[in-house]
This record gives sequence, structure tokens and C-alpha cells, in this order.
Amino acid sequence: MLGQMMNWSLTIPKILEYAAAMHGDTEIVSRTVEGPVHRYGYADAAKRARKLANALRRLGVGEGDVVGTLAWNGYRHFEIYYAVSGIGAVCHTINPRLFAEQLVYIVNHAADKYIFLDLTFVPLAEKLLAQFKGVKGFVLMTDRAHMPAATALPNPICYEELIAPEPDSIAWPDLDENTASGLCYTSATTGNPRGALYSHRSTVLHAFAHCMRLPGISAEGVMLPVVPMFHVNAWGAPYGAPMVGAKLVFPGPNLDGASLHALMDQEQVTFSAGVPTVWLNLLNHLDQVGKNLATVKYMLIGGSACPQAMIEAFAKRGIEVIHAWGMTETSPLGVVNTPKRKQLALGPQERMQLALKQGRPGFGVEIKIADAEGRALPWDGKAFGTLKVRGPWVCSGYFRQPPMATHDAEGWFDTGDVATIDADGFVELVDRTKDVIKSGGEWISSIQLENIAIAHPAVQEAAAIARRDAKWGERPRLVVVLRKDAKLGADELRDFFAGKVAKWAVPDDVVIVEQLPHTATGKILKRELRDKYGT
Ligand code: AMP
Repeated sequence: MLGQMMNWSLTIPKILEYAAAMHGDTEIVSRTVEGPVHRYGYADAAKRARKLANALRRLGVGEGDVVGTLAWNGYRHFEIYYAVSGIGAVCHTINPRLFAEQLVYIVNHAADKYIFLDLTFVPLAEKLLAQFKGVKGFVLMTDRAHMPAATALPNPICYEELIAPEPDSIAWPDLDENTASGLCYTSATTGNPRGALYSHRSTVLHAFAHCMRLPGISAEGVMLPVVPMFHVNAWGAPYGAPMVGAKLVFPGPNLDGASLHALMDQEQVTFSAGVPTVWLNLLNHLDQVGKNLATVKYMLIGGSACPQAMIEAFAKRGIEVIHAWGMTETSPLGVVNTPKRKQLALGPQERMQLALKQGRPGFGVEIKIADAEGRALPWDGKAFGTLKVRGPWVCSGYFRQPPMATHDAEGWFDTGDVATIDADGFVELVDRTKDVIKSGGEWISSIQLENIAIAHPAVQEAAAIARRDAKWGERPRLVVVLRKDAKLGADELRDFFAGKVAKWAVPDDVVIVEQLPHTATGKILKRELRDKYGT
């Protein structure tokens, strides 16, 4: 027997239409590429998204077409998210920090029909133009006054002129909720990037989870996603915030500490989200100017492990760090670190041990860890193995790729991360499968070594990599960047590890460098370090 409830498909425009109706005057504030701060409410955002949807149809964009974006976090990008998906096309957010050949690959692989771009990225598109195969046109996300006098891009379209003549109403098509809505390629460190193809249903369910798992995401809150909209949909903020009517603040291209500090104070931001590197810059800036963030209560930190020093630095400023883990393939929220009631009674040290874990899954994410033979391992916080996940916002394969070994017959997705799970379901990442250091049959977690190194007051950033060793197979080596004007000898840093890890896990040597290489999404590029320092 079937239930007798309405079949109300979970489609993306419904989120915006809800926000327009219920929170129409709640602001979206954007720092723009052109300079000034732009502000309007959800009602106006919805009007302009509908105008854009009409304009896209006029351009010949239809269901299943892919539209690329090369853009910062800003209100026009937000409108594009909703307009493109709303008419059944696919919003392909392109990460401009990818290498040129990767950019060319994904634009052609996705078959982007149009590309919307911020003025910042015009030179980049011009440089690669000849290699883009099927792109029919480029829409510059600005007004007439700021259109470049000359550009090599053929028939550049001005965004404001494109939408101006269109009606601000639309009957959104009644799409099947499983229709593809968005596309994001992983910034793979080897091989070609792979695309995760999101659907309306996965996006809406993920937005529910976003609001459910993150404290402070509500109509009273002000959310500033620093994590880019070109990287896994800014972790869901552009959908989660309107779903509850939170004010949204977009930082545009200025992600340095001083700019973020000013914007956060000015707009009374209560919740922000980003990778540790960004927060390192912000904390350094706050130290330099001797100020605090006036209104921020929570920082969602993920993308790479959040060091203890960072959790403490924010706690000192009255800000709670919420550590989380996820991937492009998991939309991205996988596990989020919020305590259970019984854990509120833990002492400060145990609380810190817990906070360093990546977190526990909420409803909608199934997890397990498995050994090399695929056997499930116990949830004892000690055994570690490959982390596998399953759920309605986890990819079931890659865009235009044959089935891969990443997915098994039972539908589990192999994350490529190595983790422990404790009895309460808290996941702690031990490493990436390929970054773990295998010394004499024992596995050493590079993340653990990095966390210890970074806790040393002279260390700004650290990477632990495997160095080939005739006797042990591999041995740990630390590559570190020191804080400005700091001095530190290799032995001194090695001594700092005493008592914190087993003797055999202490790095054999330390290389001090000016800076570490990072991937397009701010992660340390370990492969490059291994090539340079791995022998
Ligand atoms: P991406 O798909 O580019 O977002 O990268 C996802 C990968 O980032 C994961 O598979 C992890 O290896 C890493 N990652 C994400 N969050 C964390 C975290 N909180 N701690 C450690 N690594 C993380």
C-alpha cells in the first residue's frame, strides 16, 4: 500500500522561493570584484535568478546542458546556482586554481555550453580560449560600465544586460528530483580530475543536513562561507542559509585576514566556514592588530585536519571550532564534530582529544572502516582502515566515467582516507591512503606528526612525508615553514616529539623551507614534496 502524502519533489528552486517568500528582506551581502559592497534581500535575489533563468532559455540553454562558472563567492554566482539548476541545466563550478591543462580538460569533458565569469578570470579564459572546444559564449558577471574595453573572448555578453529585459517571474519546470543540478570536479593530485554530478534531490537533502548538523545556522544567524562556491558548492552554504533564512555574506575575491576581519565585524557574522590555511592567515592578522572577531561564534573547519593550536586559538577568542570531514564526492558533509550530551561532562583534555577528531555522521551518512581485504574493522578508536561511506548525497560514480573500483558491489564509496571510528561513531582521520608512512610494517600517521609539529610555537606549517629507507622501507621526514623571524633547530623540533608519539614514529629529520606547495583547494601538495624530499 502506498502512502497518501503529496509527491513534492525536492528541487533546488523551491529553496530560493521559500527564502523569497519567508525571508524576503533578509540580506545577501557581497564584496564585489568591482569594489563596492552589494546588498539585497532574498526576494530580490529570487527575482534576478528568475530573470536569469528566462535569459538562459533565450540563449538556448535547456535541460541537460552544462553551464560553467569561473567566479568568486558573490550574489551573481548565487543567482547562477539557482537559475541554471532551476531550468534543468547543470551548474558546473570551475575551480580557477586548477592547473591550465586541468581547466581545459574539465571544460571540454563537461562540454560547457556557456561560461559565466568574474572579471578577475577574463585573462585566464582568454589564455585558454583556443583550447575550449564547445563553449558557445562567455557571460561576464558585471554591468556595462565595467565591461572590458577589449577582450579576446568572442561576443562577450554583459550579465546585467543579459537579464535586464527579462520578466522576473517564471514557472519553474517540474523536474524529476533526481535530475542533475550541479557538477564539481575533484582537484586530483594525479590523473585527470573526476566530476561529481549532484542532483536536485541530493542537494536539497544535503542542505537539510547542513542545517541540522551545524549549530547556529538559523534565521538569527549570519553565515560567511570563505570556502569557495567553486569548491563543493561552498560546503552547501548557498543552499543551507536560504533554507533557514540566515543572512549570507559573500567575501568576493578578498580572502586575506584583514579583509575577512573587516567584513565579519561589519556584517556581524556569527558563523563562518573554511580550510585551516585561511584561518591561519586570519589568526595571524588578529594577533598582529591585537583585535578579536566581534560577533563570530562558530568556525566550521575542514578540507584538511584542524590543528589543536587552531582550536585553542579560536577558543581563546570565544569561538567554537566545529571540525568536519567531507569530500567533493560527498557534497561534502560527511562527518561533523558536535558533541553528544554525555560528552559535555568531559574534562578539558578529553574534550580536546574529541575535538581533534573529524566528527560523527548524522542521519543520511553511513560509515564503516575496512581492512585491505574489505573486512569491516571494529569501532574501537584504535583499529584503522579505509573509510567507506554510503548515502543519498554520496556520488554513485563519476561523471562520464565507467564504473570504478572506488565503488563496491554493495554501493559503498571508498574515500581513499584511512581512519579510526570510536564506540560513539566519531571518525578520526589517520591519513590519506597514499600519505600514510609505512615504517617497518607499522603505519605512521602523517597528520598526527603534522599536528604535533604545528603545535610548536616556532612552526607555521608542517608536512610529514615518507622518505625511502633501505632498512625500514619508509621513514618519516618533516618539511616545515617557520613563523616569521622564528629560529628552530632540527633536533629541537625532534625533541618536541618526545613522549607525544612512539620513538619509532619521531621524524628522522627536518627540512626547513620558505613555503609549502598547495593544491588548488589549499591542501599541501604531498606528491610534490615526496618527489623533492622523498629519497
Ligand atoms: P576535496 O574533495 O578536494 O574536498 O578533498 C577531500 C579530502 O580532503 C578528503 O578525502 C580528505 O582527505 C581531506 N579532508 C577533508 N576534510 C578533512 C579533515 N577535517 N581532516 C583531514 N582531512 C580532511
